[in-house]
Amino acid sequence: MKNLIDLHLHLDGSLSINNIRKLADCAGLQLSLSDGEIKKKLSVDENCRDLNEYLEKFDYPLSFLQTEKQISDCVKNFEDELLSLGYIYVEIRFAPQLHLQNGLSQRDVVLAAIDGNNRSALRANLILCTMRGRNNRDANLETVKVASEFLGKGVCAVDLAGAEALFPTCDHRYVFDLASSLNVPFTIHAGEADGPQSVWDAISFGAKRIGHGVRSTEDPILLKELKRRDICLELCPTSNLNTNIFSSYSEYPIRTFMEYDIPFSICSDNMSVSSTDAIREFDIISDTFSLSEQEKKSILLNEIRYSFADDDLKRELENTVQLV
Ligand SMILES: [Zn+2]
Repeated sequence: MKNLIDLHLHLDGSLSINNIRKLADCAGLQLSLSDGEIKKKLSVDENCRDLNEYLEKFDYPLSFLQTEKQISDCVKNFEDELLSLGYIYVEIRFAPQLHLQNGLSQRDVVLAAIDGNNRSALRANLILCTMRGRNNRDANLETVKVASEFLGKGVCAVDLAGAEALFPTCDHRYVFDLASSLNVPFTIHAGEADGPQSVWDAISFGAKRIGHGVRSTEDPILLKELKRRDICLELCPTSNLNTNIFSSYSEYPIRTFMEYDIPFSICSDNMSVSSTDAIREFDIISDTFSLSEQEKKSILLNEIRYSFADDDLKRELENTVQLV
């Protein structure tokens, strides 16, 4: 059994070398770099020290995602690649406010991404990221409003991404007050670079899912609360090794989450930055912890259950997974 779903997947962190070359062509740019040189610009190596260094790998791909055609084509190319790898459903996230260098509005960016999504046969929804920071309050609120406008039309939720240890989760309550008032579901990156308090803050805002959340294991009361509130963790093992939260896969707290009966999904986070995909992540965790077929199937079914897909699509995905 293999993972066919990815609920935590950043568009700008997942551009293949082939996709970069197509986007450069689209912009009329002559790329003189070799594949190895492009890979070096897209991916971290073993010297990456923390999340802040990891996030530096997003500047290069973002430079190719500043026109409507590039954004639309990028989403289509990416989804076609995922389809050929066997995925049946993904939730792709990106921050519209990072695509405005050539004068697009956030609404233009989202419309272009929806267009790319509609042009691929892959079942996919878009999650719009707001960004941690001190000077982007208006941009974050605009992201939530755009998400509300396109909810159910290609957009399924909002998120909070960015440098977690530099800009605490608690400073971003205003984002999720607006999301809640507009009935926009949300997930929040927390408990990754920052400790359990960031997860407490995220769940107090009403997050249905937590991006990473692995540092919840530092607080047993929080683990019980995650179970009580039925919150799903979006786990991205290799990404957490890249940012030095863990030094080996065997340290990964999968069995702790299972003991507390906390639902989780296994995700890639960033396919190019971390040189991985959700299928590989699932296999690594399955092998490292000798997961049974029943355990693997229940992870897959949880990924469907806690996805932001509508009920009809969830039923269809469940039927597909039952047949695997
Ligand atoms: Zn992430």
